Amino acid sequence: MNIIQKLTQNFWKGRNGQKPEAIVVHVMDGNLVGTDSWFANPASEASSHYGLNQFGEVHQYVQEEDTAWHAGVVLNPQWSLLKMGINPNYYTIGIEHEGNATSVWSAVMKSASVELIREISRRWNIPIDREHIIGHYQISSKKPNCPAANRAIVDELIALAKPPTSTPLRLKSRSQLFSTMLTTATVTLQAIATGLIALGATTIASDLVAGAIEIVLGVIVYILYEKLPASR
Ligand SMILES: [Zn+2]
Repeated sequence: MNIIQKLTQNFWKGRNGQKPEAIVVHVMDGNLVGTDSWFANPASEASSHYGLNQFGEVHQYVQEEDTAWHAGVVLNPQWSLLKMGINPNYYTIGIEHEGNATSVWSAVMKSASVELIREISRRWNIPIDREHIIGHYQISSKKPNCPAANRAIVDELIALAKPPTSTPLRLKSRSQLFSTMLTTATVTLQAIATGLIALGATTIASDLVAGAIEIVLGVIVYILYEKLPASR
């Protein structure tokens, strides 16, 4: 993807023995132009690896191998992968998004963010899930609206960035077919059994029901057996 370099002095060289293990999603509380100058100013003591605007333009401020200053303050964290006593900046990559807490993210910005997340994840072997793609609010309770008041934006990015599930469709549809057959067979057998009971042939009816239960159990076992490998 096309990335415009806007390198800043606000970073630490290297990662102090750590490597990127997660991506932190932020909102700028402003626009990309303002963020460019904020990160270019040493007095801000702030930076991020990337910044995106609503038109999908991507700026890079810090190299991924280096440590940006985007999520260093830990306060009441809600993140299971947080490492005690280690600055989160050392093992995360920060992506800033244009707008404020209540902005609607444009589809173009979301797809640029998704593409970037995919590329970073591939480079560093970062799983695309809710533990590895997180909101800034999960590191600091002082940032409750970063990346947005509606925190579902993080889930949305993950859903878009995730590769399609590897569940084989053939097995799934075969199980669905058996479920349908099972339902049909059960209804039919019930009707026959009810008819036989009405005719007074209770022994035949109970034999039929017992046989039907065996068939049903057999089919259930088969469905479970088919589903197991698919869910791995
Ligand atoms: Zn933030």
